[in-house]
Amino acid sequence: MATKTKYIFITGGVLSSLGKGIASSSLALLLKARGYSVTIAKFDPYINVDPGTMNPFQHGEVYVTDDGAETDLDLGHYERYIDDSLSKRNNTTTGQIYHEVITKERKGQYLGKTVQVVPHITNEIKRRMSAFDGEYDVVIIEIGGTVGDIESFPFMEASRQFSLERGRGNVLNIHLTYVPFIKASGELKTKPTQHSVKVLMENGIQPDILVCRSEHKLNKEIRAKIALFCNVEEDSVIEALDAETIYEVPNMFAKRNFDNIVAKKLGLTAERQRLTTWTRFVNRIKSPESEVTIAFVGKYIQHQDAYKSIVEALIHAGAINNTKVNFKWIDSETLPDENVDEVIGKVDGMLVAPGFGQRGIEGKIDAIRYVREANIPFFGICLGMQCCVIEFARHVVGWEDANSGEFKKVEHNVIDLMNEQREITDKGGTMRLGSYPCAVKKGTKAYKAYGETLIDERHRHRYEVNNEYVAQLEEAGLVVSGTSPDGKLVEMVEIPEHPWFVGVQFHPEFKSRAVKGHPLFTAFVKAAMQVHK
Ligand code: GLN
Repeated sequence: MATKTKYIFITGGVLSSLGKGIASSSLALLLKARGYSVTIAKFDPYINVDPGTMNPFQHGEVYVTDDGAETDLDLGHYERYIDDSLSKRNNTTTGQIYHEVITKERKGQYLGKTVQVVPHITNEIKRRMSAFDGEYDVVIIEIGGTVGDIESFPFMEASRQFSLERGRGNVLNIHLTYVPFIKASGELKTKPTQHSVKVLMENGIQPDILVCRSEHKLNKEIRAKIALFCNVEEDSVIEALDAETIYEVPNMFAKRNFDNIVAKKLGLTAERQRLTTWTRFVNRIKSPESEVTIAFVGKYIQHQDAYKSIVEALIHAGAINNTKVNFKWIDSETLPDENVDEVIGKVDGMLVAPGFGQRGIEGKIDAIRYVREANIPFFGICLGMQCCVIEFARHVVGWEDANSGEFKKVEHNVIDLMNEQREITDKGGTMRLGSYPCAVKKGTKAYKAYGETLIDERHRHRYEVNNEYVAQLEEAGLVVSGTSPDGKLVEMVEIPEHPWFVGVQFHPEFKSRAVKGHPLFTAFVKAAMQVHK
């Protein structure tokens, strides 16, 4: 089948966490800077249908797209780098593939055949790999996991078949490996890379380009050795040193000619534009004019990947404000109710994170009371917003029992399930998910940040502010600054007398892009910068 779309597969070897997501995003950015349309798709070998049901301790953040897909956190990197909104088509899992194939089998669609990994599973994988045919100039496909994992085999096999069918010049295989430095002998070692490529070749895949992560420079000799043993051209062995910030990787790749080699091999002839805006953004991150410290209150703080998009959104907002955002990580479960002030300390702002379940809730509420009374800028996201409504109901309105229906049935469930969520029993994909419009009230801090009366933000939650109590909360001074356009759901709340106290039911972090930033995060960091002036 002929198509003008070019495909790039990115696999990883030696060990996990080498940054395939950042590498894919950086390459995509460089190809976009040549005027090509590029998208990135992630294929994950786990059996969960999506990461929505996984514990953030295990899998990090669940990233939500506009169309309400719960996806791998790498999709967040993709969107932040290429400044484009992706969809459920951009993340496929083994679970989805099997679900599709088994559903077809039950409907008798395989006409009596034995249903097998090859060709039925691999065909379904290839069908999804082709989802963007003709729509983009380049599709980058990142395969999750590490080469040699049992569960990645069908993806490797599908990519091998795909490469053969599309033909050379239309598909490129890039392998990301690690070249360790052994202190005792003072040497860089290429053997793990050689072994990793060997495994890849056993799967019938000859890499075209090797991107080698290393803490030390790879000299010409090392690169020549890797090239010889791995059967790749010498200029296709790309050094990838640790970067000061992940946003510097595109510039580092450009310096190493990575995108030139990719473009040459795929016959993409357009010249790259200079990365002016991007580089300015990176420079601001690297040499900011000031610093602020934000207390980050959550229950998964030992595993900061659980809050990836929020952290990145704060970094983007810092760059816009020319300031460095330092994080003071606070475990909401260990927050005592007495000396909260000491634990939180002299911070410039406090963000209370999203989350599920009761653990850590009382700590979050205590922390919010402290910053509300101490006039420290506060930003509550999803559960963080629900906690600020509970805190306000308890300590300002005076309903001591106030709580969320998620945690305790009480007289004043100021946060509760709305009707449609009451009937749902399935766990996966059943929350209020994806992008919804929100009407912003003029004259509020939210309006000042957005400068618009109608916005769109992404959601991932079951519970809502309970409309029964809204009038009384407002009377006591909590302003509802955003609602669904029909006015039925509370989307944003704030306290006008406070320097900056804003809670949002949605997840603004999913829409913060590297060079664009998000209005609410930008306004929050700006408010934090005023605290110790
Ligand atoms: N647990 C809350 C709910 O389901 C908040 C979810 C979140 O913070 N994403 O509504």
